[in-house]
Amino acid sequence: MYDKFQSHLKKQLSGIESAGLYKKERILTSPQGAEITTRAGLNVLNFCANNYLGLSNSPELIEESKKALDSHGYGMSSVRFICGTTDLHKKLETTISEFFGTEETILYAAAFDANGGVFEPLLTNEDAIISDSLNHASIIDGVRLCKAKRYRYMNADMEDLEDQLILAQPQRYRIIVTDGVFSMDGNVTPLDKILALAEKYDAMVMVDESHSAGVIGKTGRGTTEYYNVLGKAEIITGTLGKAFGGAIGGFTTGKKEIIEMLRQRSRPYLFSNSIPPLVAASGIKAFELITHSSEILDKLRKNTSYFNEKMTRLGFNIKPTKSAICAVMLGDAKLSQDFAANLLDEGIYVIGFYFPVVPQGEARIRVQLSAAHTQGHLDKAIAAFAKVGRELGVIK
Ligand SMILES: *Cc1c(COP(=O)(O)O)cnc(C)c1O
Repeated sequence: MYDKFQSHLKKQLSGIESAGLYKKERILTSPQGAEITTRAGLNVLNFCANNYLGLSNSPELIEESKKALDSHGYGMSSVRFICGTTDLHKKLETTISEFFGTEETILYAAAFDANGGVFEPLLTNEDAIISDSLNHASIIDGVRLCKAKRYRYMNADMEDLEDQLILAQPQRYRIIVTDGVFSMDGNVTPLDKILALAEKYDAMVMVDESHSAGVIGKTGRGTTEYYNVLGKAEIITGTLGKAFGGAIGGFTTGKKEIIEMLRQRSRPYLFSNSIPPLVAASGIKAFELITHSSEILDKLRKNTSYFNEKMTRLGFNIKPTKSAICAVMLGDAKLSQDFAANLLDEGIYVIGFYFPVVPQGEARIRVQLSAAHTQGHLDKAIAAFAKVGRELGVIK
């Protein structure tokens, strides 16, 4: 059997390769950070990590993890409801609830699991999920696992959302689901308008704050703070894998009874291992660091606006962004790949994205800013963009 299957796979793999869609992995030999070293011996500035707050290699988080290793050991060897819950897991859940102004929180091994396990325990075929067209893959998978009727609205398009809500009126319960910040454009979901429509058409709201928590809102609490509606969305999901240290872990936070039901019925929670105590401990620390001082967030904001301003002044077409994601629009797919390759030669590591990850003709380089970047890092990146941009005829 395997002979036939093997040649089938080989054909598919070479198809992926010849379409230029084969994903190769660059091997880092240094900690994640603004400056990284790769196994190929390259020393480059990293502008493609989700390390928004620069906490991936934070001495405070490392220290906290080491302490937890000594006090709580390494692994849990259990799911939460059998013997996988420590005081650190409970404290992290409370910390997250306080941070988002929500009632309760449940941890998962990843935000992918949080989204994968949120719909099926709560909704049935009598209900409706109304989902933004650009929502994260894990939301799409979560929706697939649930029998609720599916509706989709064009990205952040409130007229379309209203149309879908009208169509969904015959269903028993309705929930609108959206990313807080969309990862390819860096745009923020219009949560204020979504909540108003939810009120008008009797729906609940879920926001995935994976790219927005720790980044937007005055004190980094995400879109609900950005629109001054803390505690209004029934469900928030998020990750510990981006701004909050970047290790591993996800969560769902929101209304008490919703979280209680997830603890009883959510399959990725019930049937998958508990996160290690050291990750819970450093997670608590990450939330504390940004709660007790605005220094890190101020730095991220300063870096983001500095980079955007300079790049716009150079003549690059930058998508309007409110997050730490800056999409440098190039249009042509090949140009985006050449541009990224030339930037790497200049010591700047970024990724060019093109169809089908973004719409046809909207190829771009996505730059992700971090509080770990210094002014010198930014100036070096901007100079490299200017040089390559002129060489490739993107700017004058
Ligand atoms: C990154 C991301 C996830 C997945 O997070 P993990 O914790 O890495 O599984 C889910 N949703 C959105 C919107 C994301 O950006």
